[in-house]
Amino acid sequence: MIRGRPSHSKVLFSNMTTHHSGAARAPRFTDLQLHPDLLQSLQKNKFVTPTAIQHSAIPVALKRDDIIGIAQTGTGKTLAFGLPILHRLLQSPPHKRFRSLIILPTRELAIQVEDTLRKLGGPFGIHSAVLIGGEPIRRQQQALRLNPQIIVATPGRLIDHLNMRSVDLRLVDTLVLDEADRMLDMGFAPQIKEVLRNVPADRQTLLFSATMPAEIVQIAHSYMKQPTRVEIARPGSTAKDISQELFILPQEDKNELLAKVLLDYKGTVLIFARTRSRAGRVARFAKKQGHSAAEIHSDRTLLQRRKALEGFKSGKYRILVATDIASRGIDVSNIELVINYDLPDCAEDYVHRIGRTGRAGKSGHAMSFAAPDQGAMMRDIERIIRTNVAISPHSTHQFSATAVSPKKSGRKPGHGNAAKSAYGFTKKETPRGGARRSGSGRPGKSKQQETASASGGINPTDGGKAKYGLHYSNAGYSRSSARRKPTGSRNR
Ligand code: AMP
Repeated sequence: MIRGRPSHSKVLFSNMTTHHSGAARAPRFTDLQLHPDLLQSLQKNKFVTPTAIQHSAIPVALKRDDIIGIAQTGTGKTLAFGLPILHRLLQSPPHKRFRSLIILPTRELAIQVEDTLRKLGGPFGIHSAVLIGGEPIRRQQQALRLNPQIIVATPGRLIDHLNMRSVDLRLVDTLVLDEADRMLDMGFAPQIKEVLRNVPADRQTLLFSATMPAEIVQIAHSYMKQPTRVEIARPGSTAKDISQELFILPQEDKNELLAKVLLDYKGTVLIFARTRSRAGRVARFAKKQGHSAAEIHSDRTLLQRRKALEGFKSGKYRILVATDIASRGIDVSNIELVINYDLPDCAEDYVHRIGRTGRAGKSGHAMSFAAPDQGAMMRDIERIIRTNVAISPHSTHQFSATAVSPKKSGRKPGHGNAAKSAYGFTKKETPRGGARRSGSGRPGKSKQQETASASGGINPTDGGKAKYGLHYSNAGYSRSSARRKPTGSRNR
């Protein structure tokens, strides 16, 4: 069904800084013509100033226009779509039931979004229901029988309900696709298209995504009506208040560096590991070092995941170790540090991972531990974030010569600081045996790659550690020296 084309879309360009800058007073929610009950709820929950995405998207959504919102996680998207939904429900006569459907990628995110909407709309009698996997379907069917005006669902469970006829999508008049790029990455395209085919043509569609891959453009072409594009930062860019730092070191040295960093940073730390078992191992390691830590990934039950997240939010656990799948719903303010213990499989995930720190305008720091053979992966990430991430002077290795070809990278070897100019292609300390790239050089080929990076850089028999290793007492890794390197100093 062709419902308009984004090529006709109106572009409303905004920027995170605009509403803070200039002589004009910062806009407030009271300027946005929202229902008085909603303003009261916002005030009670201490929301005063809309974020950039809220400021740009809410007036468009209140006009019932379709929106493509390009904004990364942590920019306030939930209220950007949630407030217009609540406003419309509060304005409608009590007998008329509008139904808003919000589809998003993970259980955690669903719980969090519903929680936010319930806090703001619940006092005025607005009901919502959450449809997610890992919970008894019966309880969800009971909740649906109470006619919720808002349904927050993950795609798989929503389709289960659709097949069981426990939900009727013909009533939907506002459809939100939140973190659309993530849902597509997770393979939910068929479910999303099925939902789009089952909701009425006469509806409003609000699509939010951190990046704008071709598949989303295609969905917008086929299923949206002249959407207004509301762009908060360039697609795939990272929040401006997050400083980033890269450590190049072999796999077997990561724990040693992690131990040091965890002692150095006293605030909350979110660590990303590539696999479930790795996340478990890293969490156990952190606990062994005397830190309070929990893990969150798909091997854990929903209850365990909830407890881990709640414990992290309440301060019971200072450290949370997560895989990418579980990470989207983590909305915890004041995360001081995000550590990519492993680089993500998919370069776009880097944006989502580090967006967990520096939320809602606060500053944050992100560290990535990359193996010497992951130069190509890092280059993909840097292309997406359009920034070169500063390499920590405490890296023990460089990217192996084969990882990036100078021609492709466009950077000339031998320029500037050795560590930086060597990035990807000069051999300052070519490891014995070489850090061979596995296939594409992407971390998806875990076993090969781990073996390659484990052998790379350290000569296991000749005290390689003494030569290249992490002798922090001498090397003097320190947070202040690490942080001194400003991200973006090498902006392209
Ligand atoms: P979101 O991107 O919707 O997940 O929001 C990220 C975080 O920002 C959440 O902790 C929200 O509570 C917070 N937040 C959202 N909007 C605002 C606002 N206008 N003022 C202050 N905090 C906000």
